[in-house]
Amino acid sequence: MKRTDITFEETEIRLVSVNTLIVGSGAAALAAAVNLHDLGQEDLAIVTERWGGGTSNNAGSDKQTYYKLSLAGDAADSPLQMAEDLFNGGSMHGDIALCEAQNSARAFLNLVNLGVPFPHDSHGGFVGYRTDHDQRGRATSAGPRTSQMMFTALAAAIGKRGLEVFDSCQVISLLTEPEGASVRVIGALALDLAASETGTSPYVLFNAPNIILGTGGPGGIYEASVYPESQIGSTGLALEAGAVAQNLTESQFGLASISFRWNLSGSYQQVIPRYFSTDADGGDEHEFLNAFFPNPGRLATAIFLKGYEWPFDPRKVRDHGSSLIDLLVYRERVMKGRRVFLDYRRNPTGPAGSGEFTLDVLAPEAKEYLERSGSVQETPIDRLRKMNPPAIQLYLDNAIDLAEEPLEIAVCAQHNNGGLRGDVWWESNVRHLFPVGEVNGTHGVRRPGGSALNAGQVGALRAAQYISRRYAGEPPAGEAFLTSAGPKLSELLSVARRFTGPAGDDPLEVKTTAREIRQRMSRVGAHIRNPDGIDQSVEDAWRLCDDLRERLRVESTADLPSAFRNLDLGLTHAVYLEAIAEYLARGGRSRGSFLVLDRAGELPCEGLEDVWRFLVEEEGSFVDGHILEVQLDQGGRARREWVDIRPVPREDPWFEQVWEAWRNDDVIR
Ligand SMILES: Cc1cc2nc3c(=O)[nH]c(=O)nc-3n(C[C@H](O)[C@H](O)[C@H](O)COP(=O)(O)OP(=O)(O)OC[C@H]3O[C@@H](n4cnc5c(N)ncnc54)[C@H](O)[C@@H]3O)c2cc1C
Repeated sequence: MKRTDITFEETEIRLVSVNTLIVGSGAAALAAAVNLHDLGQEDLAIVTERWGGGTSNNAGSDKQTYYKLSLAGDAADSPLQMAEDLFNGGSMHGDIALCEAQNSARAFLNLVNLGVPFPHDSHGGFVGYRTDHDQRGRATSAGPRTSQMMFTALAAAIGKRGLEVFDSCQVISLLTEPEGASVRVIGALALDLAASETGTSPYVLFNAPNIILGTGGPGGIYEASVYPESQIGSTGLALEAGAVAQNLTESQFGLASISFRWNLSGSYQQVIPRYFSTDADGGDEHEFLNAFFPNPGRLATAIFLKGYEWPFDPRKVRDHGSSLIDLLVYRERVMKGRRVFLDYRRNPTGPAGSGEFTLDVLAPEAKEYLERSGSVQETPIDRLRKMNPPAIQLYLDNAIDLAEEPLEIAVCAQHNNGGLRGDVWWESNVRHLFPVGEVNGTHGVRRPGGSALNAGQVGALRAAQYISRRYAGEPPAGEAFLTSAGPKLSELLSVARRFTGPAGDDPLEVKTTAREIRQRMSRVGAHIRNPDGIDQSVEDAWRLCDDLRERLRVESTADLPSAFRNLDLGLTHAVYLEAIAEYLARGGRSRGSFLVLDRAGELPCEGLEDVWRFLVEEEGSFVDGHILEVQLDQGGRARREWVDIRPVPREDPWFEQVWEAWRNDDVIR
């Protein structure tokens, strides 16, 4: 790595030249750095806006799951079977599914060797359990904070290897140059977030022929979000550089607490808390679910099932299913403007005149579960105390006492199955740019719980293998790089000068524009989607993007990071809405984790307004058989394209042939 100081258009800039720049410090980015180093490419650097920020180190759940190939006892499994199961989630390319399956054991055992405490039995078997969308019990967990433990182990490995980290540094643009009919990435411009304290220029310019982008999911585009607050995402960087995105319509949404962001799955629902809503000031308390369930038994069973049917699923709305609750929570909060709470101090009452709640009214499956867990106490909090005391402690650690106060909730965005498109080595269509982790959208409609963490580790390994084998050269000399990067750099500096320059008649503020983006996404781009009005939302989103470039103003250079952040959020939300609008225009119906309102459909349950009619997407439909890609054209507007889904490759590999290809260096290509 070489560092020099340069002056460009009278601006002081630190120039860093390095073979590979890794953006982000989540589990995927750090795994990429460790793998790359271990594969022999030592000229690398990590740049991250906050070491320890992001989802991996700050999110978790009741039992945070890691999905991997079965590795214990006589569990029948194979990489091909695992690939088929991933593929069958819908809208996932089969060759990518095969890579995720084929490399699953290697990536998982790498984490074990780095010290992540995944439990095994006395003979060394990593015994699995069944997670959602999983028939084979491939899931494992190191506890409620599996991804944090992954971060910790990988961070220690980075430290041991003495790898260079540019902390508190926010990448604001990826720099590219044409390569044939395509483009390739050549570097990145970042802002040093500590520069205002040290009184230095904030600009750090990376001359890096390879970039691994591990910037995580787009947590910052939603108002109702269970992504940690430190996870905002930077998908817009890659979109602006010309990267193709796919399956942006597919995310996971579910119930979470909002003052302390945590998803309310597992035992938080299995102990059957009471749901109620209030007006904005906390008055007019009302058990809003009662009007839509026939009796306390059906209501309490639906709440119980929410425990392991956590993400909203339109197929589980009918017949008083568990996802009817998410829909009613949204109706209460977003349509009626009320606040919704979970109460662990009291049992749900159920509809008037339909009998009392007791454990005897539960469906047998729920009752047996509670009995076998010994959680048969009088109140939800006592049942939770028996079933999972750390679940209470977790909230106490965050100044919320579930025994004393209700917990405010919303249906929140949690994970993006879609994202940027990569090939089997996780390289995007922008050559030398490798999105890994959640920013790379390998999954489609449904994915087994825990497969996000597997995908992140596998992608990190694949990108590292490819870069170390094929893209190992030195970065170009500084002058040559500046010749290519100069025009974009000049444009970025002029945008920055405009942001800090004199305000025109009608300046825009970071805070209000960020709020507008988030409110729009949570209203029209989350788990409830309405074909009426979506085109208007897309238009509003693009108008905001244009306005942001021209009219956004901040007080000083110290505020530039949030200004550029807003540009990224604006672009990201506009492109996500484009994808949603295209899906709806194609007649796409409810699937995955979202419900499409449809006047020709059925009512989710009796008593709901007509506007809630919906239909579930059918197998074999156009949207079911294709993957939607979105890419910005030269003019910065979205090009939408439906592509065929590639099947799982059915090869019959022969060792001697593979060995020959390996010896001839024909494999990593
Ligand atoms: C509540 C919750 C529960 C979950 N449970 C599970 C589960 O049980 N199983 C499962 O498989 N998945 C789960 N997930 C999803 C999974 O945790 C994430 O997909 C995964 O941790 C993402 O890892 P990552 O490395 O891609 O990104 P992250 O860990 O989010 O890291 C992104 C990094 O990029 C940095 N960054 C972003 N933009 C920039 C920029 N412009 N410049 C510099 N740095 C930048 C951030 O600071 C951060 O360091 C859950 C997610 C949530 C929110």
